[in-house]
Amino acid sequence: MRSVDEHRRVVAGLITARPAQTVPIADALGMVLAADVVARLSLPGFDNSAMDGYAVLTEDIAAATADTPVRLPVAEDIPAGRTDIPTLAPGTAHRIMTGAPLPYGATTVVPVESTDGGVHTVTIREAKKEGQHIRRAGEDVSAGTTVLRAGQVVTPAVLGLAAALGLGELTVTPRQRVLVVSTGTELVSAGTPLQPGQIYESNGVMLAAAVRDAGGEVIASPMTGDDVAVFSETLRRHAADADLILTTGGVSAGAYEVVKDALGPGSVEFVKVAMQPGMPQGCGTVEDTPIVTLPGNPVSALVSFEVFVRPALRAAMGFADTERPRRTAMLTEDLTSPRGKRQFRRGVFDPVTDSVTGYGPPASHHLRWLASANCLLELDEDTAEVAAGSRVQVWDLR
Ligand code: AMP
Ligand code: MG
Repeated sequence: MRSVDEHRRVVAGLITARPAQTVPIADALGMVLAADVVARLSLPGFDNSAMDGYAVLTEDIAAATADTPVRLPVAEDIPAGRTDIPTLAPGTAHRIMTGAPLPYGATTVVPVESTDGGVHTVTIREAKKEGQHIRRAGEDVSAGTTVLRAGQVVTPAVLGLAAALGLGELTVTPRQRVLVVSTGTELVSAGTPLQPGQIYESNGVMLAAAVRDAGGEVIASPMTGDDVAVFSETLRRHAADADLILTTGGVSAGAYEVVKDALGPGSVEFVKVAMQPGMPQGCGTVEDTPIVTLPGNPVSALVSFEVFVRPALRAAMGFADTERPRRTAMLTEDLTSPRGKRQFRRGVFDPVTDSVTGYGPPASHHLRWLASANCLLELDEDTAEVAAGSRVQVWDLR
């Protein structure tokens, strides 16, 4: 049997990053920057007012108080967006709005709240220091500075900065394009009435969501039944457009194992991994596209995705945090685990008491428990029994 760590290494070795791509900034959200961004502009680009008020010379209002206000004629009106920048003559004021360019010669801004708000003349009731309420050119970003680094995840704030710098595009590591294929003649889609013996398809829906949640893109998520010809034709049709193919089902020891029948022996290797759930696994390539064949039981499929696929997928998209956060927590109950296999149980981690409780049975078809778990409880290969009160390893899925 192959160890969990060995299979993780093999899968990680198959999935590789796509070349960096320059994309419109709105498409870059959630991707990882593949190049540094150097500001070509300063921010602010020009001296401007931080308040709605009056641009004046500091000396002209030095004596202003509530009891001895200073009156000045208002010579200009400067709304935000005015592009001809006037010059302030001594002994006058310019009415100015937040973000509007500061007139040449002005040395301070008096907020409207310290005045009578006059349009033709203004009464100023408070003196201001030189430079007050002025945003200086370059005080946020000075042109030529590296403001974003390769490896940073594009967040709304990153997009805001890029947009403020006038960038229409960003260079990123593209998303991995994933084909998710569900096998099983028993499967039907939601909306179709069930015949006896049929079940609703769930792995494809779940894994497609897991791929997107990991930052990837799903190009298609077809069902193929257990027909080798249909399955092979589906892979052939999509392989060239996919960076990764995920399949579920058809890899265990029974008959009608469509994935095994179609792909083995050949460029895909089918192995038993010392893990519970998720023992039957496979991986390799189909027409040069990496393929990971996950087991069919829904819990096995999602746990296998978490353990083998998600870290490799995220690494290939440039994320620094490829793994779920690991922590230890105090176990609230006695548990057993098959010796020689690594067991992943569904758990509920309580951060307040720093404890974890196994959630639902360890068997691999209990979706209900998986849906309300917030962690995976990892019991290693050497562990057969764990007593309540022990500290155990937890993968935080929150
Ligand atoms: P298999 O490995 O194909 O024998 O599948 C193992 C179990 O998982 C069977 O009970 C299947 O019906 C179930 N299963 C396989 N694929 C899916 C799927 N896409 N959605 C829901 N259940 C599935
Ligand atoms: Mg099947």
